[in-house]
Amino acid sequence: MNMPDIRKFSRVDDIRSYCTRPVMLKDGRIVATDSRSVLCVDAFDGEVAPLNNDRTDNAIVEGLAMHDDPARAWYLLSEVERPELTACKDCNGTGRVRYTDCEDCDGDGVFQHGNHDYTCKECDGEGRHRAADGKEHVCDECSGLGLGPRYTSMQLKDMPSDARDVDAVLMSRFPDGCEYSPGNPVLIRGEGWKAILMPMRNN
Ligand SMILES: [Zn+2]
Ligand SMILES: [Zn+2]
Repeated sequence: MNMPDIRKFSRVDDIRSYCTRPVMLKDGRIVATDSRSVLCVDAFDGEVAPLNNDRTDNAIVEGLAMHDDPARAWYLLSEVERPELTACKDCNGTGRVRYTDCEDCDGDGVFQHGNHDYTCKECDGEGRHRAADGKEHVCDECSGLGLGPRYTSMQLKDMPSDARDVDAVLMSRFPDGCEYSPGNPVLIRGEGWKAILMPMRNN
């Protein structure tokens, strides 16, 4: 079957465990999410844990219900040129970066003084610095995928003008022959699966 790989729709590393592996909704459907996108498949052989987060569960169910809205228009994704992906520039395609905590702000990124927060100038509020001998982290820019550019403007039909940038890495993982429905979110569907993609605001 022409189905995207559900494991690639989770994140490599996230404190929210439901973002790191395929999970089951309360209604029994199986999804993978990285919190900006959702893939829902009709069948999956691998291990699945319960999602166990009502707010996220409800939001995903609501998003999936948009697929049944008869007012949505559908177009072939194969008619759209998909962005060419290269190695992520932030991590050189490794999906990993090394950081040490900023010593000036103890890794907080901010200083508190009275009722005010001041951004740490030393680390620009990041709380950390790149360092060859630092602790290894998943690359924020590409979520550990090693590919980029992550959010790219695609010529999808009828997209809202302020939300044209979509996740190009995920877009590259959809098989040919699937359909998309423009909007915010963008919906994608194929035989045996459906997906929801939140575009980036770019106004
Ligand atoms: Zn990266
Ligand atoms: Zn700092």
